Amino acid sequence: MESTQEQILIYGITLLFLFLAVVFYVRKLRKSSGVVDEKIRIAKEEGLFEPVSLHPYVDPNSCIGSGACIIACPEKDVLGYSNGRATVINASRCVGHGACFHACPTQAISLLIGTEQRGVDLPHVNPFFETNVKGIYIAGEIGGMGLIKNAIEQGRQAVDNLAKSLEPSIDAEYDLVVIGAGPAGISATLQAKKRNLRSITLEQDSIGGTVYSYPRNKIVMTSPMDIPLHGKVKLYETGKKELIDLWNSILGKNGINILENTRVNNIFRENGLLIVKTDDNRQFVTQKVLLAIGRRGSPRKLNIPGEDLPKVFYWLMEPENVSGMDVLVVGGGDSAIEAALSLADGNRVTLLYRQETFSRLKPANDALVKEAIRSKRIHAEMNSNLVSIEDKRVVLRMADNLEKTIDNDVVYIFAGGELPAGFLSNCGITITKKFGERILSHAKK
Ligand SMILES: Cc1cc2nc3c(=O)[nH]c(=O)nc-3n(C[C@H](O)[C@H](O)[C@H](O)COP(=O)(O)OP(=O)(O)OC[C@H]3O[C@@H](n4cnc5c(N)ncnc54)[C@H](O)[C@@H]3O)c2cc1C
Repeated sequence: MESTQEQILIYGITLLFLFLAVVFYVRKLRKSSGVVDEKIRIAKEEGLFEPVSLHPYVDPNSCIGSGACIIACPEKDVLGYSNGRATVINASRCVGHGACFHACPTQAISLLIGTEQRGVDLPHVNPFFETNVKGIYIAGEIGGMGLIKNAIEQGRQAVDNLAKSLEPSIDAEYDLVVIGAGPAGISATLQAKKRNLRSITLEQDSIGGTVYSYPRNKIVMTSPMDIPLHGKVKLYETGKKELIDLWNSILGKNGINILENTRVNNIFRENGLLIVKTDDNRQFVTQKVLLAIGRRGSPRKLNIPGEDLPKVFYWLMEPENVSGMDVLVVGGGDSAIEAALSLADGNRVTLLYRQETFSRLKPANDALVKEAIRSKRIHAEMNSNLVSIEDKRVVLRMADNLEKTIDNDVVYIFAGGELPAGFLSNCGITITKKFGERILSHAKK
């Protein structure tokens, strides 16, 4: 009898604990849903909710709310947890490495490009990576697919394909000119060497491509990559410096010299061959061209002394990692204003613009920047230009034509530039807008 009463008591206590655990869980869920809903509201207000290119789509019917995707994504607040499921918060911060896609235990995540509201320009390529312009091929993220590993794979495959139609009888300076030395271009360069092609690689900036400019050191690699002339590399968690050092050492061992600081501005056909023209007016005559130029385009440079210092950037990512700095933001468009505003708290920001007033700003940015200047969160120098950049200072030419030197730790230049779509169109390559097309998805059984 006594033991039955004891059993009832134990059951009762267990049930009570279970009930309290459920109440606690539901309250926690509501609280975190509230926080995420608020973040979504702010993301919408700041224009970060709508993706700019690749982004995750969470199928609410398959998501079990494990949170694995949120843990896997190293970018801040791309995904969050609301009402027991994963949800997108700042979709525009997605960089397309697909860590969430691989982490999801129920295959509830796909990667899409563009949305119904905002299309993304993608070039036409056939299954052999050739564009509508005969002899011009495309590999890597410019084709729509993110990820270092994919870019490496595509660079290799594109070279294998284009090599098949090389004409040994044609007397061109090169068999192949590779444009861009990110993961796709490096891989293509190595594969071209492996196949003994006469090839050269031109890079507007430095070896490493987008990887070089990550604001974080950590690299996410969800599966091994196969680097031509080197073999399989299992670097699931590595740093960008280690990866770039590895690429440099493979290139060095194979005696390959990539031409850095060489921007291509045009490709045209002459006498049946392709001519690749650079900013410094050099021309490379070739049978084939591989465009491995990524999706970030070519920023316009000011061509002033010191612009090659590592503290000079042409885009801003993760402003929360910049604090206590003397920052100079150059430009008067929305990108410059948004960068200056996002850096204003916690840094000493000077905004430099060559015109007397800002023009054609989004109304919200216009109001915010005026208020930030009025309240001295941002110091603005109008009618002024940047003359030179030094390690710890910058020299400005002011409205009165006098020079002024100010302390400086970091410079962001937003002077416009050319987007890849413009460059591709100039080369005659057909572009189509993609409105939410699946780029990476689990085949439905
Ligand atoms: C912040 C951030 C973090 C990321 N993190 C990861 C990650 O952890 N793991 C992962 O797998 N992927 C990550 N990605 C995605 C990955 O970096 C890209 O998918 C990959 O770099 C694409 O390689 P690519 O060679 O196609 O292009 P890119 O790396 O963009 O390289 C293109 C190169 O072409 C050059 N170029 C462009 N135009 C010209 C021109 N006209 N003339 C000469 N050169 C030109 C550019 O300077 C650049 O060096 C991240 C992306 C970003 C933005």
